[in-house]
Amino acid sequence: MFDKIKNIFKSDKEENNVTPKNAPKEVTVPAHKIGPKSQDDTTTYVIIGASIAGVTAVKTLRELDKSAKIIVISKDENIYSRCMLHHLISGHRTIEGINFVDGDFMEKQNATWIKKATVKEIDPDNKKIKYEKDGNEEELAYDKLLITSGANAFVPPVKNLREAKNVYPLRNIEDAIGIKEQAKYAKNIVIMGAGLVGMDALAGLVEIDGIGNLSLIASEDRILDKQLDVKAAKAYEDKFEQKGVKIYKNRMASEVLIDEDGKVKGINLGNDEIIDCDLLVVSTGVRSNIGLVEGSGIETEKGIKINEKGETNKPDIYAAGDVTGTGIWPLATKQAEVAATNMACGEAVIEDRFEFKNTMNFLGIPTVSVGFITPPDDTYDVLTYTDGDNYKMAVIKDDVLIGFIAQGDISYVGPYTQLVKEKIKVDNLAERVFELGYSDFFKIKEDGQFEW
Ligand SMILES: Cc1cc2nc3c(=O)[nH]c(=O)nc-3n(C[C@H](O)[C@H](O)[C@H](O)COP(=O)(O)OP(=O)(O)OC[C@H]3O[C@@H](n4cnc5c(N)ncnc54)[C@H](O)[C@@H]3O)c2cc1C
Repeated sequence: MFDKIKNIFKSDKEENNVTPKNAPKEVTVPAHKIGPKSQDDTTTYVIIGASIAGVTAVKTLRELDKSAKIIVISKDENIYSRCMLHHLISGHRTIEGINFVDGDFMEKQNATWIKKATVKEIDPDNKKIKYEKDGNEEELAYDKLLITSGANAFVPPVKNLREAKNVYPLRNIEDAIGIKEQAKYAKNIVIMGAGLVGMDALAGLVEIDGIGNLSLIASEDRILDKQLDVKAAKAYEDKFEQKGVKIYKNRMASEVLIDEDGKVKGINLGNDEIIDCDLLVVSTGVRSNIGLVEGSGIETEKGIKINEKGETNKPDIYAAGDVTGTGIWPLATKQAEVAATNMACGEAVIEDRFEFKNTMNFLGIPTVSVGFITPPDDTYDVLTYTDGDNYKMAVIKDDVLIGFIAQGDISYVGPYTQLVKEKIKVDNLAERVFELGYSDFFKIKEDGQFEW
């Protein structure tokens, strides 16, 4: 009945930090597997993508294989955190301010970086990739290949949406720069989609002095419906409304209205309810960038299929990060570390694919949301606790905590995260779920480990 939890003392700060420095290290490389290589034994590793998964792989490979040739190839020419793009929009950070490695990172790692290049094709039989740079087609040979091409914004098939001008997703640095620039002139800005990316865009825009009218379209009865219940969402909705944002809930755009130049001028919410709009931010989900593996025989479903070692179905080809159909920074980090370790003949497996933890802080209200917070039927217990601006909510099924929200006071979420992640059964949980303490659960074993 008791499950052993090794990481229980990980602090909340550590849990929530998404910098590569703090990425979980669960990989082991047997010393006998990583001997120094002789000159003619040099391995060429090619990594597609220069974001968190690509960068983590460079670091891991270089640690494990000092003599290897490492080549990174990416469309990007900056290495930046997408999680901080809203700070670029608000003007709180510069482009350099959202970089998460030093400008000379690649040089220091002795890696070659081919920037502003687009990989078009992968040829597993001949161990080559084809890419385009400056209008020229080039080829690159590899011994081992890692694909970390990430994901891109999905633009839904709403009438005129894909053609209209002044419409931006928020995925890349260019999007954030475009939004910021256009926001200077826009009178009516609409954000379509109230998930984490849409809320990031709104949070960035709302901070700009003299910003135009801001409207948010949420398809559900609340913002952030995957992370928050109605009450937790309302805390944010009220704050944004106080800042002048108009929120349209339970609405979907049926058509984008455009002027004679093709520029967006309004959004039809159906039933001819029109919102004026001259700048539209679309945040309606993402899709993995798998176009480059078409025709290669590399298996895909939502993203590139990998096993627990990060291997694809093709020999010496690995994948990590959002391109595998996942969508959060810590998991991209861990997958890249594991894949790179295996590429360098180490041994590592992805043990933890837990994706359902989100930490957010909009307009000064911190919230952590873990697990599934929308129970599908009434066989689940939903318990809440409110103390001023602090709010907690728990979803319990058969003495197992399956979802948890903490808003305001987010201290002590670490143990709750472990309970959800490890599906730990705790007797009579519903009676004391908001009063749990460390001492409720574990005892110290003789070897000093804690046990639930
Ligand atoms: C606005 C926003 C906010 C976010 N906030 C959070 C958050 O708070 N917490 C969290 O955990 N996650 C967050 N995420 C998600 C997080 O940013 C991603 O999980 C993470 O960036 C994935 O990293 P990656 O390396 O797999 O891919 P990406 O970051 O998508 O990078 C892909 C790389 O591949 C390159 N590339 C793509 N196609 C090609 C090609 N054909 N040829 C060459 N190069 C190519 C790109 O140039 C890029 O360098 C957020 C994302 C966005 C957009």
